[in-house]
Amino acid sequence: MDATPRAFTEERERRDLRPWAARSAETRGRVRPEDDRDEVRTAFQRDRDRIIHSKAFRRLKDKTQVFIAAEGDHYRTRLTHTLEVAQIARTLARALRLNEDLAEAIALAHDIGHTPFGHAGERVLDELVPGGFHHYEQSLRVCDVLERPGGLNLTQEVRDGIVSHTASGHPGTLEARLVHLADRIAYVNHDIDDALRARIITQDELPKGPIRLLGERHSQRIHQLVRAVIAASEGEVQAQMREREADALEELRQFLFDRVYFGSPPKREEKKAEGLLRQLYLYYRDHPELLPEHSAPGDEGVRDYCAGMTDHFAISQYARYFLPTPWPPED
Ligand code: MG
Repeated sequence: MDATPRAFTEERERRDLRPWAARSAETRGRVRPEDDRDEVRTAFQRDRDRIIHSKAFRRLKDKTQVFIAAEGDHYRTRLTHTLEVAQIARTLARALRLNEDLAEAIALAHDIGHTPFGHAGERVLDELVPGGFHHYEQSLRVCDVLERPGGLNLTQEVRDGIVSHTASGHPGTLEARLVHLADRIAYVNHDIDDALRARIITQDELPKGPIRLLGERHSQRIHQLVRAVIAASEGEVQAQMREREADALEELRQFLFDRVYFGSPPKREEKKAEGLLRQLYLYYRDHPELLPEHSAPGDEGVRDYCAGMTDHFAISQYARYFLPTPWPPED
């Protein structure tokens, strides 16, 4: 009898991946043991599918990446950002013979707990929630608890990659580190692209050194950065970027902080978004009966509800509770 597709994939992982890659057949297991009889997909492939079929994943389509309520169909959202990260992470993992399915699963979930209104939303929750708020912790909570009763019950490797997705995190797998690099490569470049489109910056204003090294065009820069990760990680038990490209990327990121992330005209909308989310949060804290059934008690439930909202839903709830409804209502 032929091997099942799953056994074939597991065998290929065993044979072809680097010794230091994560192997799905050797997973540290799930939070709750499952009777796993899937003969098609490996454990990491199943995690990827659980994430992509979740409601929280679909809500990413209407969560701000950088520009709040961007007019125009071509600006990134949290969803398209996530897809770009997943694609770069897969390219890196395949090139380095690490586990592509694991990298993909982590990448697809890495922002799944993000608030509405991008970092403005995160700032508000961090200020209001007792003990603070970090989207990477919330991402794990979405996967472990909030998404369907009992959570998605992911493997420890995917959970570790989600929760350690921070500058100071120490992920247990190289695949998780690749996702972190892929995130940075993706957002610095697509934020430049979006800021150019919005005419907040011009091509001539981009810092000369990094552009000379990485290229004039979006696609060239991503390609060079991907090559710089491969060059510095190939054959090594690490996932890192060659220093000169890492420095160039950091210079571009600083440029974005100076010119785009703070003080640019569309970013001024953030103040309004912060005020809106703050008022909603306090309103739900005073009216816990408005929270969905089975919400956690107290601030926890309010945090979960507010963090899970799309931009659009938050705005509509604000209108519902704080703006007068025209009278008489029109049919
Ligand atoms: Mg991200």
